[in-house]
Amino acid sequence: HYVYLQPPPAKYGGRHTVALIPGDGIGPELLNHVRELFRFCCVPVDFEVVHVNSASTREDDINNAIMAIRRNGVALKGNIETNHTMPPNHKSRNNLLRTSLDLYANMMHCQSLPGVHTRHKNIDIIIIRENTEGEYSSLEHESVSGVVESLKIITRNNSLRIADYAFRLARDKGRRRVTAVHKANIMKLGDGLFLQCCKEVASGYPDIEFDSMIVDNTTMQLVSKPHQFDVMLMPNLYGNVVSNVCAGLVGGPGLVPGANYGRDYAVFETATRNTGKSIANRNIANPTAMLLASCLMLDHLKLHDYANMIRGAILTTMNETRLHTVDIGGQGTTSEVVQSIMRIIQSSGPLTTEI
Ligand code: ADP
Ligand code: MG
Repeated sequence: HYVYLQPPPAKYGGRHTVALIPGDGIGPELLNHVRELFRFCCVPVDFEVVHVNSASTREDDINNAIMAIRRNGVALKGNIETNHTMPPNHKSRNNLLRTSLDLYANMMHCQSLPGVHTRHKNIDIIIIRENTEGEYSSLEHESVSGVVESLKIITRNNSLRIADYAFRLARDKGRRRVTAVHKANIMKLGDGLFLQCCKEVASGYPDIEFDSMIVDNTTMQLVSKPHQFDVMLMPNLYGNVVSNVCAGLVGGPGLVPGANYGRDYAVFETATRNTGKSIANRNIANPTAMLLASCLMLDHLKLHDYANMIRGAILTTMNETRLHTVDIGGQGTTSEVVQSIMRIIQSSGPLTTEI
């Protein structure tokens, strides 16, 4: 019952233009590596760089960034820091961007990577997270002194829409099962509605198995028996927590890319949206998650040959334990990893496939 139209991305003279939001912490350095790599590979993508000052209480910067995404249709971004000491009416710039552009589906594909040592092997889980409402509605007030109400908004329309997205994706990717994650035993109305909508959508996809699991049990099952999960579908905050557990399962926040899709726009970033302030400007951040996010973006632009070429070189580099960055137990630097990726691409010769 929904029409999923993706308009053709902006393309002039055979090149795409993409909004690039460096963000804070390790965002700028990682995105500089993406630009360096794209130049090296002659990827036909130009960037419109938009800076957002996270210390400012004005919304001009974020509105410019949103405008740039509306113009270009696609963005690659670092995380914009949200300082906890900001006044309560200060909305997270990242959240403002997602809701303004109605990027309702967050997608993270958590896969074990070659060469990375983890407790569980062969993890392959897709997480679909509702990305615009739930606990992230920014509706909080202190009704009387000492009593705060934080509103969690669950709507039928948005729940049906994200459930439909998850089942459609499961079918497109040949996956067998969708598991809805909830806490409907406590939030009978809110999560109850979410779960009900998932069930309704599931009945339209008889080829895909459907089940549900309470969020607390889910996190326990994930760390002990993660292989039971295929596609997972959940409201906003559970999605945040479960994504971080899953990132941990495959080696941490430096490894997993994430995507935010709406009807009209797509924004790519690292799956767990870390700022990484404490490791910024030290050439030690793991560039893998951001580089893989740039590959998801190339796939979205239908530049599959470039995406596959870069992804292949990233995975080959992962196998070189000597080049692992500190977060995954090595002593390699960010730029050594990127240089290795470029060397591998160089040695495989120019891209010869028809684009
Ligand atoms: P911070 O509070 O320093 O901004 P975050 O909350 O953003 O950190 O990230 C959580 C943890 O994950 C931190 O220890 C950070 O250093 C680590 N981390 C996040 N991204 C990366 C990355 N790309 N490479 C290595 N470590 C990372
Ligand atoms: Mg942080």
